[in-house]
Amino acid sequence: QAPAEAQLNEVALFARYLHPRAQNSHKGSFGNVAVIGGARGMLGAPVLAARGALLAGAGRVFVATLDRNPGLDMAQPELMFRDAAGYDPAGSTLVIGPGMGDSADALRLLHRAQGGAAPLVLDADALNLIAANPDLQLQLAQRTGATALTPHPLEAARLLGVTIAVIQGDRMAAARELAARLRCHVVLKGAGSVLARPDGMVVINPTGNPGLATAGTGDVLAGICGALLAQGWPGWEALLGAVWVHGAAADRLVAQGVGPIGLTAGELPAAARAVLNAL
Ligand code: AMP
Ligand code: MG
Repeated sequence: QAPAEAQLNEVALFARYLHPRAQNSHKGSFGNVAVIGGARGMLGAPVLAARGALLAGAGRVFVATLDRNPGLDMAQPELMFRDAAGYDPAGSTLVIGPGMGDSADALRLLHRAQGGAAPLVLDADALNLIAANPDLQLQLAQRTGATALTPHPLEAARLLGVTIAVIQGDRMAAARELAARLRCHVVLKGAGSVLARPDGMVVINPTGNPGLATAGTGDVLAGICGALLAQGWPGWEALLGAVWVHGAAADRLVAQGVGPIGLTAGELPAAARAVLNAL
């Protein structure tokens, strides 16, 4: 049977899953996100993901770092910092990989995260570790909890063991192949992000612009996805919603004259928040 391609109907998506907040809701109603990453010199990546998660509505956001624990984000003091070594993320949706590096500690943390049942967003160095470790690929394919993979073309090329040219030559086929092999929800990022499910369904996201072609924007996307998962969205819908909102946030910033030149990843979380509240 021919694999399906669908148009993203964001109006129906957000009408169904973006619930008005109950009057008596509290922070526990909107879930916890734990971002795991941040090796030496790469602390900005998990912080950007965490800000994305916080401003996309997660109730509580933790940042577990592999390098020295910075203790506090002065610009976002709501974030709670922990040492990744010995940190127990029980009860949290996990976003793992931003700035994580490929150390033995990173590998161990990833193995433990994949072994749990919590919803999982795998980004950046988590994807590189998976590409290099067949046992992690096997473990991934056996997960039951929601799992989203967010590779850019180079990460997708490593995962499939092909060149970037092959990935970019047929982006739909690449996304579909990754989703089927690893039994995950996948977004192959870049202009015209392609989302794919293990059953062969693919969707092309219509939002976003070249203002996003700058460091850290992918980390914010991973955090937004974590926030929607933590708020109870099902896996596939959370990934669709996050990719759409992330692109729409960039479109909003460009419409305001903040970009495409000089748009920064740190400006995306507040724009994503504005998009979500306007929906
Ligand atoms: P990363 O490479 O992990 O930092 O992720 C970059 C993010 O920016 C992804 O969400 C991409 O889809 C997005 N992005 C990068 N370049 C473009 C582009 N030319 N048009 C639209 N989105 C882009
Ligand atoms: Mg990235």
